[in-house]
Amino acid sequence: EVSNLYTVLSDRFMQAPEKVALQTPEGSYTYAQVHHRVGQMANWLKSLDLPAGSRVAAQVEKSPEALFLYLAAVRAGYTYLPLNTAYRQGEIEYFLGNAEPAVVVCDPANLSWVQGLANQTGCSHVVTLDALGQGGLTQVAQGFSGQCHDAATAADDLAAILYTSGTTGRSKGAMLTHRNLISNAQTLHHYWGWSSNDVLLHMLPIFHIHGLFVACHGALHAGATMIWLPKLDVDAALHYLPDSTIMMGVPTYYVRLLSDPRFDRHVTRNMRLFVSGSAPLLLETFESFEKQIGQPILERYGMSETGMLTSNPYNAQEGARIGSTVGKPLPGVEVRVVDDAGKTCPVNEIGHVQVRGPNVFVGYWQMPEKTREEFTADGWFKTGDMGRWGGQTPQGQDIPADYLSIVGRSKDLIISGGYNVYPKEIESVIDDMPGVLESAVIGVPHPDFGEAVVAVVVPAKGVVLDVTAMIADLKVKLANYKVPKHVYSVDELPRNTMGKVQKNVLRQQYGKDA
Ligand code: ATP
Ligand code: MG
Repeated sequence: EVSNLYTVLSDRFMQAPEKVALQTPEGSYTYAQVHHRVGQMANWLKSLDLPAGSRVAAQVEKSPEALFLYLAAVRAGYTYLPLNTAYRQGEIEYFLGNAEPAVVVCDPANLSWVQGLANQTGCSHVVTLDALGQGGLTQVAQGFSGQCHDAATAADDLAAILYTSGTTGRSKGAMLTHRNLISNAQTLHHYWGWSSNDVLLHMLPIFHIHGLFVACHGALHAGATMIWLPKLDVDAALHYLPDSTIMMGVPTYYVRLLSDPRFDRHVTRNMRLFVSGSAPLLLETFESFEKQIGQPILERYGMSETGMLTSNPYNAQEGARIGSTVGKPLPGVEVRVVDDAGKTCPVNEIGHVQVRGPNVFVGYWQMPEKTREEFTADGWFKTGDMGRWGGQTPQGQDIPADYLSIVGRSKDLIISGGYNVYPKEIESVIDDMPGVLESAVIGVPHPDFGEAVVAVVVPAKGVVLDVTAMIADLKVKLANYKVPKHVYSVDELPRNTMGKVQKNVLRQQYGKDA
């Protein structure tokens, strides 16, 4: 059994070495060139004689070389550890202290302080890589041969430590093995019908599971081409869409594209698949997309710890794509919904989502306690999300019993006067009100009810919300305990780089004056 992820990927893409692997606005790289550059970097890493299991950490802008670095670390048998480019010095101090990497790759602009932090943790290899792929890393790698043997890793060896997005608290390092990543790559390859003719429009960051694993592994495993752009830029996206067949994005990408009238059926005429994930896709976005573009976005669900878990069907024979749901469990992935006591919930009842499968991580880095807490005695991982099978869409359309809907995170569940309040239900009602763009419903401490419901609402452009009238209207539409005690109108919701609404920030902000 082949157990090095890089071997699995390159066995496929090296079948057509002259094919373009990466295309950037500046130029392109064939698969043979990628393989060679990865080989040089891997040989440099091997030359450092690092202890087995060493971490290679990188906080670098997206460039082809940043991708080569990831692949080189895996190929050489080390553990890759990408860090969000938005993190500042204090945050990086935590991550480096926690991960104790043997190699750190950083932007040249940050070298002085990164060097200082790295020294504190005993790391002696700090090299640079800038947004254009230039720097000490590129220079030193050029001196090495591109011929490289893939390290003979075991399937259970760590390929990556991926820090979670920190949406609900401090980021945790999810330890992912070669087996985890290989299995998810293979599953998605088949389920989403990847082929070497595909061209992926890649605009996601590559320090996160969505851009690094779901998107890159999909393309590499198929020997497809990636159009490699640093971030979402609507003009650039419109320029490259006619040459593309697949795009992956967080929901805000689709909202932004839809707001441009040039985003139409003509510009997307060669596209066979739009994937959305990392945060909930509003039903309204799903619907206006289908109307404007003539094909439904495929929404899927997963997380750093597990890779992808569920997906709306790609093939129509397997069912329709249903907005507001995250589809069905992927082949080989088990998903269950249970109540507080661990008993299986019947269809249409909300409970805790738990999962099992070869894709599920082996634990949180240096957090054995936390790892134990998040697995059940019979080996299921507690995702921290709440969901339900079947039920109905917000418009009352029946959902088949094997489709999962995510209703929110258990940490965001509001318990008011002893009743469970699911923020998403109230957000859907508010989002449907005239003049509302989007909303976030949170629980804040309340002396009588334990928690009180509060809504933070973004009005549509040019609208001034009458919050008193809104609350009156909500009283007609919702049971009293669900009605927000306060509605705050804001220009925008706080989001992290993955487009996730930061409810803990809102709770801090609005928790005091409830
Ligand atoms: P942290 O665990 O540090 O609080 P995080 O959970 O946001 O951060 P990620 O692993 O990046 O870190 O995100 C996984 C989470 O994203 C899932 O648990 C789920 O809550 C959310 N998510 C992903 N896809 C979807 C989706 N299609 N619909 C709703 N939520 C989604
Ligand atoms: Mg999480």
